Amino acid sequence: MTKPYLGDAKGTIEVLQKYPFRFQKKFGQNFLVDAHVLEKILEAAHITKEDFVLEIGPGIGTMTQYLCEAAREVAAVEIDSNLLPILAETLKDYENVSVIHQDIMKMDIAGLVQEKNQGRPVKVVANLPYYITTPILMGLFEKHVPMESATVMVQKEVAERMKARPGTKDYGALSLAVQYYAEVLFVANVPPNCFIPHPKVGSAVIRLITYEKPPVYVDNEEFFFAIIRASFNQRRKTLANSLKNSQILQLSRERVEEALKKMNLSPQIRGEALSLEEFAALSNLLL
Ligand code: SAM
Repeated sequence: MTKPYLGDAKGTIEVLQKYPFRFQKKFGQNFLVDAHVLEKILEAAHITKEDFVLEIGPGIGTMTQYLCEAAREVAAVEIDSNLLPILAETLKDYENVSVIHQDIMKMDIAGLVQEKNQGRPVKVVANLPYYITTPILMGLFEKHVPMESATVMVQKEVAERMKARPGTKDYGALSLAVQYYAEVLFVANVPPNCFIPHPKVGSAVIRLITYEKPPVYVDNEEFFFAIIRASFNQRRKTLANSLKNSQILQLSRERVEEALKKMNLSPQIRGEALSLEEFAALSNLLL
């Protein structure tokens, strides 16, 4: 056997045909069948023989084989029990992988990193199920899982929102949340024909490199994120109106306008014009 051997449509179909497997839409199953893309992901992830890698959603183990070749140890978390016998076959030659049958959203990932990597930062690599991309990534950040980087395939539109800069149409709460925790690097666009079955949307690989310390100082993270969410809740309204209308924040228009004045910003400004630094300053003033 030449290793890894799954990175094309033929190998993938051959493996799948041996099992009574059916693709489950509810699990966001689109398997990668393009060796060029797999190699690009691996290259971008900068994995070495020292690394412990967490793969979310290994599918039939296509990328997992590449990860096992490159890393010291791999943990692959898969929700679909129908994939377990397939993974047992495709990963049988690797001793440095554990397949964990779990819902990633319910897992104690920090505990796993502690056990497998003595708490040192993990590298996450995944072709993510698109129905839960944001909760998975935000969960990793918000729970402060020790994570050096996440090299992930996401919906193209989500990648664009994550890397968007102030004043652009894609800029919003997700851009700010991700950019508070990580530097966002764009790796590649990936068209639907690189997967089986073809997804209805375009995809992109991005690399998020976690900051040791966020790039801005925030007195209260919960309040900071509440300000951001409220600011983008009503996109066509001014920032002052959006914040004043928030039931959660209970801020008066006068307080918001006073804070904007202190920051030399117009009372008519909209949320999409403020940078991460300005949102941090605003939330510190309004706390
Ligand atoms: N890594 C494979 C590949 O690239 O071909 C499969 C990627 S597919 C887009 C997403 C994978 O995540 C599927 O195998 C799916 O069953 C799994 N998955 C979906 N939801 C999950 C969850 N909550 N926890 C763990 N795995 C999940």
